[in-house]
Amino acid sequence: MSSKPGILLIYTGGTIGMMKDFETGALKAFNFSKLQQKIPELKQLDCNIETISFEQPIDSSNMNPEKWIQIATIIEENHERFDGFVVLHGSDTMSYSASALSFMLENLSKPVIFTGSQLPIGDLRTDAKENLITAIQIASLQHKSKPVIREVCLYFEYKLYRGNRTTKINAEHFNAFASPNYAPLAESGVHLKFNPELFLPKTSTKKLLVHKNLNNHVAIVKMFPGISETVLSAIVNIPGLQGIVLETYGAGNATTEDWFILLLKKAIKNGLYVVNVTQCSGGSVSMGHYETSTSLKKIGVISGKDITTEAAITKLMYLLGQHVAPNVFKTIFETPLRGEIQ
Ligand code: ASP
Repeated sequence: MSSKPGILLIYTGGTIGMMKDFETGALKAFNFSKLQQKIPELKQLDCNIETISFEQPIDSSNMNPEKWIQIATIIEENHERFDGFVVLHGSDTMSYSASALSFMLENLSKPVIFTGSQLPIGDLRTDAKENLITAIQIASLQHKSKPVIREVCLYFEYKLYRGNRTTKINAEHFNAFASPNYAPLAESGVHLKFNPELFLPKTSTKKLLVHKNLNNHVAIVKMFPGISETVLSAIVNIPGLQGIVLETYGAGNATTEDWFILLLKKAIKNGLYVVNVTQCSGGSVSMGHYETSTSLKKIGVISGKDITTEAAITKLMYLLGQHVAPNVFKTIFETPLRGEIQ
């Protein structure tokens, strides 16, 4: 048996795996089992690579919780056989998927690295090769026969980020992602430079637990000057709705108008979880810092602190799926589970 690390490449879809059809000029997914033929450079990597593909690769705009479960199940079923996993995924919803998978995979002790590209792998100027090759290299890195990375990450354009800290910031630039509240875990230049002090602590030797119960009775509401009672009331009264991520201004501020506070107060009393995240691209919610957030704190709004919207909505789905008891829900949400919040 080979002593080289084994990496499983999971192709879900996205631009990275597409090629231009010579006849029509349209982008379409190519057969990923032929990956090694398309990228001969992969042979130079010091690891054994196997590939598995979604039967129907998707544009990541069609990503959903069922498909997150599909990815988690592939990892679960192959967990013992491989040392690391690289998930090829469209960039549009990659941060949501990386966040969701971080919650679904508890006690993870192997790397799960999401990557993709802005240009297809066959394109002359593609960013896919660097992203893919370095993602595989990072996933196969070991120290004393143990994986160096033991969490869900996202690698894009020379940076390795904690997946649940990322957000897509640009639809065109190769530098498409940012992690505004958490520095990169590694940077790739002439050398691969790791920041081990930023890694999740090696806590357990417990067995991997894969949580597949996600509850999507949730919504994201972005505050804007002029938001009306009619609109907000229609949203919080959606039958069966269990949680809202409320994107507020600045450090967690919102209008102090009576209708707004009373509406949320009543909804929270009736069991709706409301999580306050900032609509700023960086920084943290700090309820009570301004008068415009004091009432939110008083009525039991959950602080999202410095969490991204992507991590907040997937954490809500995960905790609701876990049937976390109402009396501890707020405390658990405000506690870091996978390094997603300060
Ligand atoms: N629309 C594509 C997707 O997210 C874009 C990409 O692959 O980067 O699947």
